[in-house]
Amino acid sequence: MSELNRRDPRLAWILRNRLHPRHDELNAELNGQPTRGPTGLLRKNPRPQWQYGPSGLRRLDRLNMGGAAGVTQLSSKKRNEQPVLPLHQVVEPQAYIAVWLQTSGGRLTSHCKDVLGQAQQLAVAREQTTAVLGVLCGELKESVEGAGIDRLLQVRGPEYDGYQPEAWSQLCTRVENNLKPLYWLLPDSGESAELGRRLGVALGERPATGVWKLEADTLLARNGAGKRDIRRPWSRVMLLLEECALPCGEYRYEAGPLEPEQKLDLSAPISSRLEDLGQVAVDPAEIPLAEAEFILSAGNGVHDWPQFHQAATLLGASEGASRVAVDDGFMPRNRQVGATGTWVSARVYIAVGISGAVQHLQGIGKCEKVVAINKDADCDMVKRASLTTIGDSSKILAELMKLVEAKSAQEVSNAA
Ligand SMILES: Cc1cc2nc3c(=O)[nH]c(=O)nc-3n(C[C@H](O)[C@H](O)[C@H](O)COP(=O)(O)OP(=O)(O)OC[C@H]3O[C@@H](n4cnc5c(N)ncnc54)[C@H](O)[C@@H]3O)c2cc1C
Repeated sequence: MSELNRRDPRLAWILRNRLHPRHDELNAELNGQPTRGPTGLLRKNPRPQWQYGPSGLRRLDRLNMGGAAGVTQLSSKKRNEQPVLPLHQVVEPQAYIAVWLQTSGGRLTSHCKDVLGQAQQLAVAREQTTAVLGVLCGELKESVEGAGIDRLLQVRGPEYDGYQPEAWSQLCTRVENNLKPLYWLLPDSGESAELGRRLGVALGERPATGVWKLEADTLLARNGAGKRDIRRPWSRVMLLLEECALPCGEYRYEAGPLEPEQKLDLSAPISSRLEDLGQVAVDPAEIPLAEAEFILSAGNGVHDWPQFHQAATLLGASEGASRVAVDDGFMPRNRQVGATGTWVSARVYIAVGISGAVQHLQGIGKCEKVVAINKDADCDMVKRASLTTIGDSSKILAELMKLVEAKSAQEVSNAA
C-alpha cells in the first residue's frame, strides 16, 4: 500500500484554481518541482513562472531560475514601488549626437522619447565616448532622467518661446559650430519636422525624412505619401518617425550641463522675422477625438449626465464614451472610444465608470496617462490606469469640480 503513488486531489484543485486564496502560496512552494498528475505520472507545472525585472515589468522566467522559490511574488505595495535604475554616465564625451527635444505642455512627447531611444542606441554602438545632447527651447515640467539625455542644453527667453523656428534653427547652428555633433536627430512631426528641414538648409545637408529604421550603412524612410519605403544613405540630419526605436527604460541618465569648455556663447542677438501671436482658444468639444490631448470619457457607471458634461467643460476636456454609453443614447456615436470607435492618443484620459473591456482598451493603447474612476477596484480599467480613484462617480466628479473651482478662484485672487 505504502509504495502506491497517491495524489492529493484537493491540492491539485487549488493549484488549478487561480481564484483560491492559497493558490499563489502553494504554487510558489511547488514552483519548479514536478507534481503528480491525475494518472499518477510526475508532471512539471506548465503555468508560466513570472519574475519582476529591474524596470518593474513582469517577465517570464523561461529557465525556471527565479528566486528561492523560482517566482518572486511581490506584494502589491512593493509592485507599485519604483525600482531604482542604474545610472548611465558619460564622462568627458568626445563626440555628441544632438536630439531636438519635442515637448507638449512641458513634457517630452512619446515620439521624442522614441528618437532619444534611437540616439542612445547609436551612442552606445560607437567606440568613441559619445553623449546624447538634448537641445530644448522652453520649460520642462517633469523629470527627464529616464529619457536618455546625457547632456541637456535648455534655453529660455522671449526670442525662443512659443513658435520660433527661425530662432531655434539659429540656436542649432550655433551648437553645430561649437560642438559639431555627429548627427542631428529630430522627430518628424509638428514643429520639429519644420525645424529639421530648416536646419538641413542652414547646414547645407540633405535631411533624411520619414526615417523609421537605421541599418549598418543605409536607412529606410517612408516615402510616396506614406505608401512605400526608400533605402538611402544616412544623413547628418535625420527626421525620424514614431516607433523608430524603443524608448530608453533600463537606466537613469544624467541630463547634465555641457562641459565648461563646451559652453555656448548665446549672447549674440537672434534675428527672427516671425512673430508668435499665441495660441487660438478652441472649444474642446470641437476637437476631433483622435487629436484631443485631454479626454474625459464616460461609461455605464455615469448616472448623472448633466454633471458629467459640466465637469468636462470645467476641466476643459474633450468628451469621450464607451460603446454602452453610446448605445444607450447618452453620447453621440462620434464620441465612442475603442476598437469600433476612435483610437485616441491623449496625454491624459480619465475613464469615468468604464470597466475596461478589451475593445475599449484597444482604443486607448496610445494614451500616456490613464486615470480610472470606478466603484470596482478589480476591474481591468483600474489595472490599466496610472492613477485610480475608487468610489461613486458622481461623488468623485463633484469633489473634482470643487477642487478645480477653488484653484481657479485662487488664481483669480492671486492675479488681482
Ligand atoms: C464587436 C464588439 C466591438 C466593441 N467595440 C467597442 C468599442 O469600440 N468601445 C467600447 O467602449 N466598447 C466596445 N464594445 C463593448 C465592450 O465589450 C463593453 O461592453 C463596453 O466597453 C462596456 O462599457 P462600460 O465599461 O461603459 O460598461 P460596463 O461594462 O457595464 O462597466 C461599467 C463600469 O462602471 C462601474 N460603475 C458602475 N456604477 C458606478 C458608479 N456609480 N461609480 C463609479 N463606477 C461605477 C462598474 O464597476 C463597471 O466597471 C464592443 C463589443 C463588441 C462585441
